[in-house]
Amino acid sequence: MPGNGAYDVARKLWNGMIDKHPALIAFCANAADVAHAVSFARDHELLVAIKGGAHSFSGKSSCDGGLMIDLSGMKGIEVDAEERIARVQPRVLGGELDVQTQLYGLAAMTGSISRTGIAGLTLGGGFSRVSRKYGLMIDSLRSADIVTGDGKHRHASADENPDLYRALRGGGRKNPIRPWYCQKSSARHPN
Ligand SMILES: Cc1cc2nc3c(=O)[nH]c(=O)nc-3n(C[C@H](O)[C@H](O)[C@H](O)COP(=O)(O)OP(=O)(O)OC[C@H]3O[C@@H](n4cnc5c(N)ncnc54)[C@H](O)[C@@H]3O)c2cc1C
Repeated sequence: MPGNGAYDVARKLWNGMIDKHPALIAFCANAADVAHAVSFARDHELLVAIKGGAHSFSGKSSCDGGLMIDLSGMKGIEVDAEERIARVQPRVLGGELDVQTQLYGLAAMTGSISRTGIAGLTLGGGFSRVSRKYGLMIDSLRSADIVTGDGKHRHASADENPDLYRALRGGGRKNPIRPWYCQKSSARHPN
């Protein structure tokens, strides 16, 4: 809370022009902490902001007078090189994931700046240096563990809670037409 030594450090965002003052900042170490924080905010009718890598230019990862959920304690990365899957906690930054995937000669569609947060980048689509060839980061999202607004922990994938999974991926067409820049190099731009 304001007055605590860590408060002013924790409320800082990448964009130094944003100067918001949450009423409370919850440092979450795991999904159970996030669920408690969301339920607390709901019970007390507090606005919620989620801080991952803090790179939202417009400062959406903070709020005035509400609850900021700070995910800086959730930085786990697990790479399954055989399955070519990375399991990533929400405060992992792009460069941190690159370091782990490069150990196996793999690469994820992280952004062009190594300090953007993976969760925010993915939920926003995620455009990287290899996107013209491999698509957006969100196209590669296999599943997500998510705390919904009712404070419940849910798993979302093509097989489990498919509507939630589709919503996380932007809620678009079920069978999206791949954009021209992701098709074979022989394909021409329609225009
Ligand atoms: C210098 C700079 C370079 C950039 N380069 C690229 C780039 O190359 N490619 C690209 O695609 N984008 C790029 N971006 C945009 C960036 O990906 C977005 O701003 C992204 O939202 C940042 O995510 P974050 O976790 O760092 O930010 P945050 O500010 O922490 O979060 C951004 C938004 O996502 C929400 N959010 C974050 N984590 C979660 C979560 N776990 N659950 C639910 N909601 C969450 C937050 O509430 C907030 O609304 C860049 C931005 C900056 C400032």
